[in-house]
Amino acid sequence: MKTTKQTIAIVPCVTYHEGIEEAVTRALELSGAAVAMRGPPSRVLVKPNLISFVPPDRAIGTHPAVVHAVVRFLQRAGHSVIIGDSHSGAFLWSKKGLERLYGITGMQAVAEDTGCDLNFDIRWERHALPEGKVLKRVELLRILTEVDWVVNVPKLKTHVYTGITGAVKNLFGLVPGHFKISYHARFSDIERFAYALRDIALSIPVRATVMDGVTAMEGDGPTGGTPIDVGVIVAGMDLLALDQVTARFCGLDPLSLPWLGGDPPTIIGPSPEEILPMGLARPATKTHDMGIFANPVIRSVARRLLKDVFSPAPKMWEERCVRCGVCVEACPVDALRLGEKDDAPQVQKGRCIRCYCCHEACPHNAVSIPRSRLAQWLT
Ligand code: SF4
Ligand code: SF4
Repeated sequence: MKTTKQTIAIVPCVTYHEGIEEAVTRALELSGAAVAMRGPPSRVLVKPNLISFVPPDRAIGTHPAVVHAVVRFLQRAGHSVIIGDSHSGAFLWSKKGLERLYGITGMQAVAEDTGCDLNFDIRWERHALPEGKVLKRVELLRILTEVDWVVNVPKLKTHVYTGITGAVKNLFGLVPGHFKISYHARFSDIERFAYALRDIALSIPVRATVMDGVTAMEGDGPTGGTPIDVGVIVAGMDLLALDQVTARFCGLDPLSLPWLGGDPPTIIGPSPEEILPMGLARPATKTHDMGIFANPVIRSVARRLLKDVFSPAPKMWEERCVRCGVCVEACPVDALRLGEKDDAPQVQKGRCIRCYCCHEACPHNAVSIPRSRLAQWLT
């Protein structure tokens, strides 16, 4: 079958324990990405989603079995591979922190088994983005300047802030911790933030994306949701086409996410709607039916005027919180303070810009996002 840049392959794969290498290879072949990944021996960065210090069974990050299969594919094609990412927040952003991250998420075991490298270089470089819509420069991990191209390996997840986590959002992990926080502060408007994510993603030389949808996360993703078996590997070359498919898995019309844009994908394999007719459960902050707020102009004005209606401030669960302070470090506007006694951090609602970095960064799932009043009214 003839493929184009927008061809996306969806290949069934129900377990991480059997047939994963075959499924990844088949998805890359069907989508045409395999051809783009062959050629002269190269140094390739494999970029999984290693958002937090949690083991693979919580379905927060890309499963090591998928990363293993991608590394093997690249090695068979004659390339040398390095795995790299930066976790959320600035806390523990160090070589020691990365050692711990790779150990907990299973990447250390992948490296030991395949002989590939792990990135421990925490330096960064500033890059110009002359084509950027809202960003004209960005700070990215230095390792990007030492590789020829990148394979993006995200997890299929919903997201309390952007709605979906997929190909585009995963590449934000190449922005090191403290800079990530500053982008949240700078782009407190969700649509501008999404365009910034897109500007960053499109500046990175990605040849292929392989999305882990074997076990996805629904509800309050990217870290506080519930694992759900979807049973797919999704692959393709075009980031925006792949995220149009991600949106459909999340039960969203891709046109409701204007920042996605791009040409619609041609799907090879079962469609997202055949696999998951109702889509993944939405985060508590979101609703499918936006009513009059489906209009982006009305939504943007209303969001500013009715912050609490659209986006409630987070709440800390006292009984889960271990007072580690990770969320305080992750907050871009200093809206969180650790109490003087043994209380969980308190949110200063007036300061809070509802970026949910605290929710994303908490390793103990102790930050909850109350259901938005808009979602309560409309559903
Ligand atoms: S809410 Fe989470 S990140 Fe924040 S102090 Fe408590 S356990 Fe740590
Ligand atoms: S307290 Fe508010 S501003 Fe701070 S990280 Fe959490 S959601 Fe973002």
